[in-house]
Amino acid sequence: MTVRVGVTGAAGRMGRMLIEAIGESEQGIDLRATIERPESALAGVDSGELIGGEANTVVIVSDLATVIGDIDVLIDFTVPAATLANAELCAAHGVAMVIGTTGFTVEQERMLFSHDSKIALCKASNFSTGVNLAFKLLEQAAAVLGDDVDIEIVEAHHRHKIDAPSGTALSMGQVIADTLGRDLNKVAVYGREGQTGARERDTIGFATIRAGDVVGDHTVIFAADGERLEITHKASSRMSFARGAVRAAAWLANQEPGKYDMQDVLGFK
Ligand code: NAD
Repeated sequence: MTVRVGVTGAAGRMGRMLIEAIGESEQGIDLRATIERPESALAGVDSGELIGGEANTVVIVSDLATVIGDIDVLIDFTVPAATLANAELCAAHGVAMVIGTTGFTVEQERMLFSHDSKIALCKASNFSTGVNLAFKLLEQAAAVLGDDVDIEIVEAHHRHKIDAPSGTALSMGQVIADTLGRDLNKVAVYGREGQTGARERDTIGFATIRAGDVVGDHTVIFAADGERLEITHKASSRMSFARGAVRAAAWLANQEPGKYDMQDVLGFK
């Protein structure tokens, strides 16, 4: 069965990659709709030509409602407010969602998943296979090294990124905190300045770099006296996220309503 997919935020950095990844995919995925925000001047433009390829006859529209009946799964890498509005519409029409948008508040996240009894939602802060494998390695490292090490997370992204720390860095912190039985809201330290005092052992530190065109680097440091373990992932192309999201869309089309993430898609749970 062909899975009919829509991409919203189609002209964005990730949207363009997703159009390309769907075109290359051999997983029975068919691009049927591309959506941009209402103010965009790109309505009516062929999405194949938008990415510098051949025309694919899927033109960009400015209202998801006009194409919602044509798709089984919506892939959404936009901004939290747009994703929330799209989720309402998808829930009303039984359209599953792959969500890559980051930067949701706790309340926005709750609203998003309030639709999980109606539709299947797969949300991941990072859809690359390498990062999802890194989550498993972090779980293992945290379980073995436990409370004997200081844990710090350093991430770098391009200058256009609007949220910090990255959703991936927060997910890494969450995996570690869960493994160690800590509450991330209580132990996270976001940047340090001035007279901070000595480091408390159970804190998890986050440091953010924003520069140039960095696609996404993450390093988790487990530091003891006398030795240090570092687990690093570096993304050099957004295609790694796009291919993962397309794989998630193919998988999600066959799932019951509910809340999923990339660990489910990869069979890591
Ligand atoms: P971007 O700014 O290049 O693209 C976002 C696009 O969404 C823009 O083209 C914008 O016009 C469009 N948009 C905004 N509101 C819209 C609406 N109401 N309807 C339709 N389109 C709308 O940003 P980006 O770098 O592509 O990143 C997008 C999001 O994806 C960010 O939250 C980013 O952190 C996240 N991201 C996630 C992953 C992952 O693997 N989960 C990877 C990369 C980026």
